[in-house]
Amino acid sequence: MSDRSDWLPVAQAQRPFYAGIDLGGTHIKAAIVDDQGRMLAFHTEPTHAARGPEQAAQRMGQAVHLLTDMVGIHANDIARVGLGTPGPLDLKAGVILKAGNLPGWDHFPIRDRVAAHCGHAITYANDGNAAAYGEFWVGSARSFSSLVLLTLGTGVGGGIIIGNVSVEGAHSNGSECGHIIVDSAETARLCPCGKRGHLEAYASATALILRASETLALGNISGGQSPTGPLAEAIAAGEAMTPILVARAAEAGDGVALLLVLETARWLGIGIVTLMHTIDPAAVVLGGAMTFGGEASPIGSAFIERIRTEVRSRALPILAASTVLCFASLGGLAGCIGAAGLARLEQKVAV
Ligand SMILES: [Zn+2]
Repeated sequence: MSDRSDWLPVAQAQRPFYAGIDLGGTHIKAAIVDDQGRMLAFHTEPTHAARGPEQAAQRMGQAVHLLTDMVGIHANDIARVGLGTPGPLDLKAGVILKAGNLPGWDHFPIRDRVAAHCGHAITYANDGNAAAYGEFWVGSARSFSSLVLLTLGTGVGGGIIIGNVSVEGAHSNGSECGHIIVDSAETARLCPCGKRGHLEAYASATALILRASETLALGNISGGQSPTGPLAEAIAAGEAMTPILVARAAEAGDGVALLLVLETARWLGIGIVTLMHTIDPAAVVLGGAMTFGGEASPIGSAFIERIRTEVRSRALPILAASTVLCFASLGGLAGCIGAAGLARLEQKVAV
């Protein structure tokens, strides 16, 4: 949908229109969608986090103007703008508190600054909940009444939507699914948040890379010789360890690489069962960069099947039998489409 040929011509769109902005550590993504969540235009540019938050807020405001020009509509045709950012944040105050991937942006009043630059009222959301709302509104969970989205990337993000409500929590930290505990041992792995045993420490791309590197190093020690197989050979040849490299090796028949992927799935299954027992969502949706090609790829398919196996072995049978587990469908656009969707929700309540 980020491809121009997929954009809906404005003459076929249903008014009012909404803009959605997804602020990430590396990229800003912005879109205009119609009242049914169909994309009219999309724009992305680097965040340039080091240039500071005010400059980025200004460029986010300009992005909305640029998009309205691209579509050929007036600023007044945009009913409201949604903005999703990494947390932790204070939703009521509209402030980013201390985002790990936006150094130096602490306590920045992002909602009001972007509103000032784009000239529209802003609905502010956690980026995980915005992405979850995108999948709920027009993505792979559009036929479900509730969902949990887990976003697998550098970290593990989360979003929870029940009905048309995103679970923001009393302190703006609802839906932090990456920090549920999957290992209570004192020696459990350390999460980037500073606490031990959290899902993110086991199931993120960073965690997979760490476990893969450890596994190759262990093979080296225990065997007294260099480990073999496509993964070890690629690393020996100077390639960087990445989830894509692990998946490629697994596809080429590397048993160690496949085990690393399936071990990631096992940890995810454990975390997902806790979420199922707490929320009982209609669907659990997996998105983000680390989905191993999705259901269409042999490794992606083995990955989600291993999660399903873990869920069946640990969840209450009625939940294991009825909860849908699937991949997300909006890819990197879920955040900006969902932010626009949350703006639409707030607009409709206000009217
Ligand atoms: Zn954590």
